[in-house]
Amino acid sequence: MKSLSDALAIIREHQKKLPIQTVDLARDLGLRVFKVPNWPNDLSGMIRKNDENEGGFDIFVNAAHPYVRRRFTIAHEIAHAVLHPQLIGNGITDDALYRSGLSNTVEAQANRLAADILMPRDQLNELIKSGITDIDVLSGKFEVSTQAMAIRLNVPQHDAESRREFA
Ligand SMILES: [Zn+2]
Repeated sequence: MKSLSDALAIIREHQKKLPIQTVDLARDLGLRVFKVPNWPNDLSGMIRKNDENEGGFDIFVNAAHPYVRRRFTIAHEIAHAVLHPQLIGNGITDDALYRSGLSNTVEAQANRLAADILMPRDQLNELIKSGITDIDVLSGKFEVSTQAMAIRLNVPQHDAESRREFA
């Protein structure tokens, strides 16, 4: 795996254009991404060593999950590889709530970096400053779920839901 600073530089490069292309980003970090059909719905993703490529990892994502969900899963697995490759061991599997057996702290870190990858603060702030504040519009631009965008914007979930309902 690349060093943290190299990896972050590659991430920043990919963030110049929205929406962030998660599979391309993974590839540039030395990670391969595979979609897995027939996984149970409560499995989101998995990451494990790529035996053909020393230090490389393979990411697996539930093919049945919606597109924006798969993007978050790929970003979450990328985050595991970038932040703590030494914790991946023989592989980790994330369930629907991104719990893998690693500590909650480590999972929270991976979720935070995944959100940072998919919804870069600078671009988000720029759009908001230009007057785009609708969660549906913003989530569409970044190709994330409205739920992920609501969390990013610190909008309580039920507010986001009801706002959509009555919009
Ligand atoms: Zn995880």
